[in-house]
Amino acid sequence: MSALADVAISGPIGGRAQWLSGLRWLVLTLIGLAILLGNRLMGTLLPTRPIWAVLAGVLLYNVLFWWLTDRLARRGVSHRRLAGLLRMQIIADLIALTLLLHFSGGMENPFSLYYLLLIVIGSILLTRRDSYLFALIASFLWAGLLLAEGTGIVPHYNLAGFRLPIRHQEWNHIIAQIVVLTSAAFFVSYLSSTLIHRLRQNERELYETNLACELRAEELAELNERLQNVDHSRIMFIRLVTHELRAPVAAIQSYLRLILEGYVPAERMEEIVTKAEQRASDQLALISDLLDLARLREGQPADDVELCDAAAILEDVLDLMQARIENRQLEKHVQIEPELPLARARAEHVKQIWINLISNAIKYTPRGGKVCVTLGMHHDMLRGIVRDTGIGIAPEDQERIFEEFFRTERAKGTARQGTGLGLSIVKGLVERYGGEIRVESVLDQGTTFTFTLPTISEDHAEPLTASEHTASAV
Ligand code: ADP
Repeated sequence: MSALADVAISGPIGGRAQWLSGLRWLVLTLIGLAILLGNRLMGTLLPTRPIWAVLAGVLLYNVLFWWLTDRLARRGVSHRRLAGLLRMQIIADLIALTLLLHFSGGMENPFSLYYLLLIVIGSILLTRRDSYLFALIASFLWAGLLLAEGTGIVPHYNLAGFRLPIRHQEWNHIIAQIVVLTSAAFFVSYLSSTLIHRLRQNERELYETNLACELRAEELAELNERLQNVDHSRIMFIRLVTHELRAPVAAIQSYLRLILEGYVPAERMEEIVTKAEQRASDQLALISDLLDLARLREGQPADDVELCDAAAILEDVLDLMQARIENRQLEKHVQIEPELPLARARAEHVKQIWINLISNAIKYTPRGGKVCVTLGMHHDMLRGIVRDTGIGIAPEDQERIFEEFFRTERAKGTARQGTGLGLSIVKGLVERYGGEIRVESVLDQGTTFTFTLPTISEDHAEPLTASEHTASAV
């Protein structure tokens, strides 16, 4: 029974109707057995035929409702219609109970209390309003029966052993019975529907808490996986860094050992010392890149952002690079749009972006090639372009060049110096300010890096003086 009750309270409306039908089978069987047993023990005292007829009616509508509910539930009809069907069933039960009471003693039959049971069932299965409706119908039916029997509109069947021939005609008895049942019906209806309402509310809260817990558990599992991934990349990064840091130190150590142990003839001394010094410079460059990367990863609050003149910074960087450009006999083209707004970024970061991209263009472009730098506006962003006619990057490597320590084989062959960290620093800086960086490249034809940076809004922008440069150096 408790399993049935669980379904009734929390299950869908179709399930509740099936539960009620099941309960009706049980009651029908019990009443049938009681009549058979009563007849056998005490002889036929009641009009059994009409009682059997009422039971047959109940059996019939039980099958009908069972079939109808099943069909409608399968068709997926609305909860409202299924609830309506359930309401009709309980009203039919109240009428059947009244008929059974009529044929089995009316007022004398103590089973009139079963009205209350039906009201409780109604409160469990349906709403509080329905529960009051059932209380009202039960009161009307009971009052109607007693009045009809009392006034002789319908006959009164005395219940065996309770035979008080005129009691059913005494007004004080009739009124007392009606008042008792009506007040009990409404009281039970109030109590049971309040209880069920609370129960449903608790159940809903529990369900919601459960759902929230499940969601939280999923989030935690996801977070855990992300943490594991971060941990894994951290370990990989440390391995790479220690490997990269060891290599130049080991080289310097072996050069020094050669010198100390006297294996270097005087005429090669300068060459070996120069090599050692080169490796020391490599080491310094790597350490400085690693420091930049660490600073970038630490991150800084967004409101820490400063404004800077990206065009002026570009000109400074180009001055700085001039000697290298001339050294490699490269052609330089610079184009800066006039009246550019200030960039919403720190000056040292913008400088770092230009230095990395332009020095790569110089490094990976053979003698006599071209390096073109453009700065202008694109939509609402500043757009910088560094184009070269250098060695290019194979399509399969283009995705990977922003990874830490990645260097293409071609790049290693072209320029020995390089940490493989420059582009990941550039990407990190650009994205930190909400910009983007992309690469287009064709092997042996050249590479173009395009990046964007945010500007200050137009109301605050102080237009910069027009400056357009096109310089070339050989
Ligand atoms: P590196 O210190 O090796 O230059 P970067 O992170 O700056 O490290 O660049 C990563 C790799 O991307 C380089 O090793 C090179 O293979 C490729 N690369 C970057 N810029 C260019 C370019 N202008 N032309 C060709 N390849 C480039």
